[in-house]
Amino acid sequence: MEIMANRMDRGFFRYQEEFEEKALEVLRSGWYILGKEVAEFEKEFAAYVGTKECVGVASGLDALALSVRAMGISAGDEVIVQGNTYIASVLGITMNGATPVFTEPDEYYNIDPEGIEEKITEKTRAIMAVHLYGQASRMERIMEIAQKHHLQVIEDCAQSHGACCGGKMTGSFGAAGCFSFYPSKNIGAFGDAGAVCTDDPELARKIRVLRNYGSQKRYYNEVAGVNSRLDEIQAGLLRVRLRHADECEAERKALCGRYLEEIKNPKILLPKCPEGVGTVWHQFVVRTKERDALAAYLKEQGIGTLIHYPVPPHLSEAYRCLGYQKGDFPVTEQYAGEVLSLPLYNGMTREEQDYVIHAVNKF
Ligand SMILES: *Cc1c(COP(=O)(O)O)cnc(C)c1O
Repeated sequence: MEIMANRMDRGFFRYQEEFEEKALEVLRSGWYILGKEVAEFEKEFAAYVGTKECVGVASGLDALALSVRAMGISAGDEVIVQGNTYIASVLGITMNGATPVFTEPDEYYNIDPEGIEEKITEKTRAIMAVHLYGQASRMERIMEIAQKHHLQVIEDCAQSHGACCGGKMTGSFGAAGCFSFYPSKNIGAFGDAGAVCTDDPELARKIRVLRNYGSQKRYYNEVAGVNSRLDEIQAGLLRVRLRHADECEAERKALCGRYLEEIKNPKILLPKCPEGVGTVWHQFVVRTKERDALAAYLKEQGIGTLIHYPVPPHLSEAYRCLGYQKGDFPVTEQYAGEVLSLPLYNGMTREEQDYVIHAVNKF
């Protein structure tokens, strides 16, 4: 049997008619940028997350970079972020000239709240919490630390659509909740797309202006902005996704519930969920000292896997200029050497999952 690490076709075919109908509706409308679909999606997604405002942008990276910019964070400022994140989280900081200050993750792969305070300096402006793999960070504690030190909180929710902490949605805690709708995310578009959720109307206004060349009124530019608009067609298709978000989330939860129950191999560490924190399972990440051997063995059986992520940003070629070395973040580096994401996608069949579980248990 051949099983891909991830596939998006099944999630499309399940709702094919609705997607095709919406795509045709937008094509035939004659209006393709910043129209009714974007406005409606922004309203619906704000309601889903539980924030007053949502601003659609072109990608998850832009959601992060424009949020940091709209907060006035720039050269000379520091933003605290976990070491074991996708490079885009860090790019959102450095694109604005600000400095990322890395900190170690906890056993749940999210930022360890207890490591934050020792990283705060007089230059610190914000804490970026990345809700990795679909699991919410421990936001009550993070918000407490942020308030005590007068810091902004930016949430990277690219992997956490629908994940909650204490019954409250990720993306609704910090000043800005930054979402990606890259096709493989839990709520995915059919191309690039992103959004910022916020309760702050002034921050929302600034991002709205920035995404459209820095203008609110056409051809009158208040700031030197960018072109980072969410397309009408993507917004329309995302509205269809959003209608089915709960059932897709439930399906992933059931799939991962089986993995948790039926994978029994003393060499393999399963993911854990802290109390009071809901996870929407963007990835099912196991850990083992024999990661590369496990990946190779599964590949022989026709099972695809992915590593999220093999090179932590502080050791990435791109950030050599920051001057970090191997050994600077031992937990982050240990995870990078041990994590493996098992196949997980909407539409995964029982037989496919049986096959994966059996193979993993036999390793
Ligand atoms: C996907 C992702 C991003 C970037 O989103 P894009 O839409 O691809 O720009 C940022 N942060 C995390 C944690 C991600 O997984």
